[in-house]
Amino acid sequence: MPLWQREEIQEMLRERPLTMDAPVILKESEHGLKRERIAHEALRVLTRLDEAGYKAYLCGGGVRDLLLNRTPKDFDIATDARPEEVKKIFRNCRIIGRRFKLAHVFFRDVIIETATFRALLDAPPPEAEGVPLPSRRRTDVPDPTFATRGGVIVRDNVYGTPEQDARRRDFTINGLFYDIADGSIIDYVGGLKDLERRVLRVIGDPETRFHEDPVRMVRAVRIASQLDFEIERHAREAIIRMCGELGSSSRERLHEEMLKILNCGCALKVFERAWRKGLFQTIYPTYSAWLQGPDRHDAMNWTKKALRQFDVWKQAGLKPMPALQHALLFGPYIEGMAGAFAAEGMPEFEATLQAVSTVLRDKANLTQIPKAVVFDVERILGIQVQMRKSSGQSKYASRLRHRNGFDEALIYLKFAGGIDPERKELLARWMAPAPSAPPSAAPAHETRSPRRQESRHPRDVRSEPRRDEKPAPPPPPAPETKPQA
Ligand code: ATP
Ligand code: MG
Repeated sequence: MPLWQREEIQEMLRERPLTMDAPVILKESEHGLKRERIAHEALRVLTRLDEAGYKAYLCGGGVRDLLLNRTPKDFDIATDARPEEVKKIFRNCRIIGRRFKLAHVFFRDVIIETATFRALLDAPPPEAEGVPLPSRRRTDVPDPTFATRGGVIVRDNVYGTPEQDARRRDFTINGLFYDIADGSIIDYVGGLKDLERRVLRVIGDPETRFHEDPVRMVRAVRIASQLDFEIERHAREAIIRMCGELGSSSRERLHEEMLKILNCGCALKVFERAWRKGLFQTIYPTYSAWLQGPDRHDAMNWTKKALRQFDVWKQAGLKPMPALQHALLFGPYIEGMAGAFAAEGMPEFEATLQAVSTVLRDKANLTQIPKAVVFDVERILGIQVQMRKSSGQSKYASRLRHRNGFDEALIYLKFAGGIDPERKELLARWMAPAPSAPPSAAPAHETRSPRRQESRHPRDVRSEPRRDEKPAPPPPPAPETKPQA
């Protein structure tokens, strides 16, 4: 049992009331966070800041996860050094961000995010509303340190004390500091108690904090699912009431959050929790309506299997490209729509591209899916059409096997074949070794695991087989628009 969970420590936590000026401090010998478990790059940044005379705290998910004996995804640092001062200490440093200015310290394969303690504002001052911001057209306007738009904070660079910084973080378990100077844990917000109770609690009033930044609602569901924590009742109720406010969040940030969910290792659990709260339906309304439509059983079955697949890949240490994840998640919805377009006379390949664009660029979605991802999904689903038209053994097929996106397309087909019996025959055709494959080409069955691929425009993928293609043996099954249970 970690020391900080022992009875005498719990006793101390119970006795010490949480007031603005009385943080709970656990000495190095009183908690289980071992310095050796901090990534050496983060330790280096902490130590150099400390040596330069600044406060240097490990914060956020790094402290939370180490106290829970989990492996942190990343290590964030909070300091009283300003971003410009951090930049002076580290040659390998860049200042990023506008809403939050941050210093990124670069190492060979990791970036350590170093943030200056931020001030706590009880409520955004009314005069911050609508303060002009610089833009491409208005470069003469100076960047304000604080500004809101419709109550949502759009500039937040007022620096403050460690205590203020802790109190403006999202959840109590994310508000703990580990002080590199003496190895103590500093808790201004009751995070240690909540870690012990396994509760995710918003710092301050949930409604106010969610209104300030609605993305916190999505974070709450993801982090609680990852840790298997309960979301505290007021926060839970606020999420159900307020998820509509996500419409005022940045679509890019929401896409980033979505990617974090898909790759967090418990994507299915997050989806189920988010669905129960109506959060998922708010983010993807049209897709969610399809998930509740006439084909709901098959649709939900496919979606949950896709999410479980992401979790299995994560456990195996594999990192699928976002396009493969989006293709798998939205695939049958897109293919169903493509089928409808084709039924109206559009060629199958064009119908697929059109459906990808209609679904993924749908303005009703609250996420902004980057163009490159949409192009790659077009390629993955476009190749499905081409595979259906080919025997899998011809010269055309062997060229198709070498096209960008083919590996992902085959993974998609393998996944679909596991759900939809009609695609099994097609899969078998494409899994058979290609007789004329050049020696350098990896056989199709060796390209199973998801991995990153360079992105090219779907124009690279021809829509029709060339003349050397023999007619495909038995006519390919009509595109399956709904996965079978
Ligand atoms: P993980 O990295 O495991 O996904 P995390 O809690 O570390 O989880 P980050 O996005 O790395 O998440 O953020 C680091 C810390 O910054 C958080 O722990 C939290 O203290 C603070 N933080 C992040 N996003 C917000 C937000 N929207 N509002 C307030 N504080 C935030
Ligand atoms: Mg983190």
